[in-house]
Amino acid sequence: MSDKMLKFVKIGQQNPPKRDISNRKEDFNEIYKDFIKEKAGEQSSRCSQCGVPFCQVHCPLNNNIPDWLKLTAEGRLKEAYELAQSTNNMPEVCGRICPQDRLCEGNCVIEQSGHGTVTIGSVEKYITDTAWKEGWVKPINVKKEKNQSVGIIGAGPAGLAAGEQLRKLGYQITIYDRYDRSGGLLIYGIPNFKLEKFVVERRTDMLEKNGIKFVQNFEVGKDATLDQLREKHDAILIATGVYKAREINLPGKDLANIFPAMEFLTASNKKGLGDDVELFDNGTLNAEGKDIVVIGGGDTAMDCVRTSVRQNAKSVKCLYRRDKENMPGSAREVANAEEEGVEFVWLSSPKEFIGKNKVESLIVDRIKLGEPDESGRKKPEIQENSQFNIKADIVIKALGFDPENLPKLFNSNNLQVTKWGTLKVDFDTMESNLPGVFAAGDIVRGASLVVWAIKDGRDVAESIKFFLENKARESIKVA
Ligand SMILES: Cc1cc2nc3c(=O)[nH]c(=O)nc-3n(C[C@H](O)[C@H](O)[C@H](O)COP(=O)(O)OP(=O)(O)OC[C@H]3O[C@@H](n4cnc5c(N)ncnc54)[C@H](O)[C@@H]3O)c2cc1C
Ligand code: SF4
Repeated sequence: MSDKMLKFVKIGQQNPPKRDISNRKEDFNEIYKDFIKEKAGEQSSRCSQCGVPFCQVHCPLNNNIPDWLKLTAEGRLKEAYELAQSTNNMPEVCGRICPQDRLCEGNCVIEQSGHGTVTIGSVEKYITDTAWKEGWVKPINVKKEKNQSVGIIGAGPAGLAAGEQLRKLGYQITIYDRYDRSGGLLIYGIPNFKLEKFVVERRTDMLEKNGIKFVQNFEVGKDATLDQLREKHDAILIATGVYKAREINLPGKDLANIFPAMEFLTASNKKGLGDDVELFDNGTLNAEGKDIVVIGGGDTAMDCVRTSVRQNAKSVKCLYRRDKENMPGSAREVANAEEEGVEFVWLSSPKEFIGKNKVESLIVDRIKLGEPDESGRKKPEIQENSQFNIKADIVIKALGFDPENLPKLFNSNNLQVTKWGTLKVDFDTMESNLPGVFAAGDIVRGASLVVWAIKDGRDVAESIKFFLENKARESIKVA
């Protein structure tokens, strides 16, 4: 064991500093500053190098965390990067936006003994950002080109990870996306203050240099049917994510200025990328000077409230029907939102939207938590005669996402879905009921996390490889 490790008794936990609150509210840049080399090494040296590393077990990608922490502590950053990228197609993205408190860091053994977790995510970000700076991230050197091709629908993390893994093996990859940029929710969902867009763009640019063909503004279902793509490629991967916003069926729901979260966030992200966005520029989707109410308690709701703060809203309130302890959003993001001045109205549920043509206020019920329901969470119950009123110029609905109706959209009625509308796949192979059509990411899991989408992309690439090898063997036999 290197004498550089196990320093957690003497060295306290330190994350990279956050930018000053008043300063970070002024722009959309990331709020965490970078580690300097010495700090990354020092913080890595706190790792206790457990025999059974629970951090690794609880990382969906099974990242070899203890080993890259040790290499970082020893100053062997290039090797640390090589190891980190061997299990993860976007370590710099995961280091920034994984909810580490629920995954690797939440299971760090020194955290359990009260010393404060090793800051795994920040080190992962540091190692990979350094690799980009130093030019260690290189295009793939494809040893032998293969003539079989894979069509991937969706350029989000699942599609990108699968595309990269298959390209490394020499397959011809085309990624279709209905957006005009690649990255899926990394580009148009997640705001800059969590993930600056250059981080996503340098990845997708590199994938293009790797020989992956991107076809943008191409909506499967409109510009081609699934069957047409199946004829064109030897295998298909559906990685389309989930985009149908959950609705809120209350009186007044059709009033103007009540928006689904993705409409609001996409407009803001596009603006940040320098696009002309008419609905933002004419004030419709711009929170400036307005009273904003966001309904929901997940990460999407946190992104909406914090975007509103940065757009200089007059006030920003978040309505959530449970309490802080029972919020689905990451504790870190809730804390960031509170610091930035968001007012949380816990234990509250909207009852009615009020206004003439556009929303002017909401009538809200107070909630109490009852007995646990079948999921084990305490059931929210309306308190009788507890109504109150909240003023709102814009209401943003962040109540989660369901899958779109893909069989209908793709004009492929025989494509099987589950009762939740997610794609039905064989859990071992990730193949749908249509031979040679695979699926991965949120469209299989339901709304989930980037790290799980990457994991699925890597796993499905293995299955597609197996399928294509069999197909190639069969075609030789037939010939
Ligand atoms: C606002 C928000 C914040 C989030 N924050 C976090 C976070 O902090 N940390 C975290 O880990 N996760 C976060 N998530 C979840 C995470 O972004 C998703 O789990 C992940 O992006 C799913 O990856 P995916 O590749 O399956 O789908 P997506 O990223 O959704 O990509 C799907 C792609 O498919 C394309 N597509 C869809 N239909 C078609 C079609 N018919 N034809 C062509 N292309 C199509 C879409 O345009 C899109 O580019 C957040 C999600 C949201 C909405
Ligand atoms: S990918 Fe996510 S869960 Fe895994 S080590 Fe990195 S930050 Fe932790």
